[in-house]
Amino acid sequence: MTAPQAVGSDRTVRQPDALAVARWCATQGWPVHPLAPGRKTPPANCQACQESPHSPGDCACPRSGRWCHGFHAATVDQDVITAWWQANPDFGAAVACGPAGLVVIDVDSHPGAVPPRDRILPGIPIHEHVDLDGLENGYHTLALLAALRRSPSPAEDTSTLRVRTPSGGLHVWYRDEDHRGFTCSAGSSTGRALAWQVDVRAHGGYIVAPGTTTSAGTYTPLPGAWTPAPLPQWLAEELVRTGHLKDRQEAQPIVPATVPDRARQAVVAAGGGRRGAERVLDTVLQDVTDCATTPEGAGFTGKLNRAAYTVGGLVSAGHLTPTVAEQLLLDAARTARPSQDRHSSAVIRSGLAAGARQPLHIGKARG
Ligand SMILES: [Zn+2]
Ligand SMILES: [Zn+2]
Repeated sequence: MTAPQAVGSDRTVRQPDALAVARWCATQGWPVHPLAPGRKTPPANCQACQESPHSPGDCACPRSGRWCHGFHAATVDQDVITAWWQANPDFGAAVACGPAGLVVIDVDSHPGAVPPRDRILPGIPIHEHVDLDGLENGYHTLALLAALRRSPSPAEDTSTLRVRTPSGGLHVWYRDEDHRGFTCSAGSSTGRALAWQVDVRAHGGYIVAPGTTTSAGTYTPLPGAWTPAPLPQWLAEELVRTGHLKDRQEAQPIVPATVPDRARQAVVAAGGGRRGAERVLDTVLQDVTDCATTPEGAGFTGKLNRAAYTVGGLVSAGHLTPTVAEQLLLDAARTARPSQDRHSSAVIRSGLAAGARQPLHIGKARG
């Protein structure tokens, strides 16, 4: 799936400051990526990426300086950024929230019918005697939530960067200093949501950079601070309560990455004829390599630990050797987190040791 190319009048939208905006974001430590001219969606992937679907983690394009896969291509490399916007001055700019350590509260102001009471503030019952006349949009639901927590509404928070959107909405930018790894949500979702007409932009999402112009208008910083403040504690607690901690949800790989053939060969070499063991090995290594499609966290340590535990069981049942097992796990870990070898090795060793105490004989249930 790729975003459509911007066409027609969208191309006439001027982005005089887009390069400066993108460069400024990068100096804040926020990875940036382009938006299609005049739009708030990334430009289309290159022809090769369109024709052969793959996970962003398996894409060669970043190494070739291309911006395929939207926010997955985001970078703080000033040379890359300069090259992108010099070649495409009409591109807008966006920030990949997760790796930037940002949580942006996206307040909408769309006309529309107010949903049932249980969907105004998910998880918080609003009794029938509470008068909801005048409740129309995300400003109101966010103010209601803040009032319940005896706190000022983030929409009024002048201590942090607030950006007016062309449609009358508001982006309230915060830093997640503890890197708790909050995930995105849409306020209209019947699943995870903070409040009706309030979206959360965090891991797995991006946010239009301040100063960017689309065909709808300019994203304009409001008076007050122009840098993000730390996420207020009460709001962090609300995000936890409403299920925005990503380690609490299942991974959803977009496109399966390829498990190394060596995994299959290793099992066959250790005894042969072990289709079941191969499948188990494939699955657990896949869980680890799939973390490559998410910029940070994604429960990576937990998945690596579970994989090592399972593989430890395969080793003690004689399906593969300890050396090969450790190497396969380390390869998978490197695919997902290239710069965390020492951490990964420690996780792998302890997982393998724990798993080895419970031999995993394929075909039998494991307690
Ligand atoms: Zn590409
Ligand atoms: Zn690609």
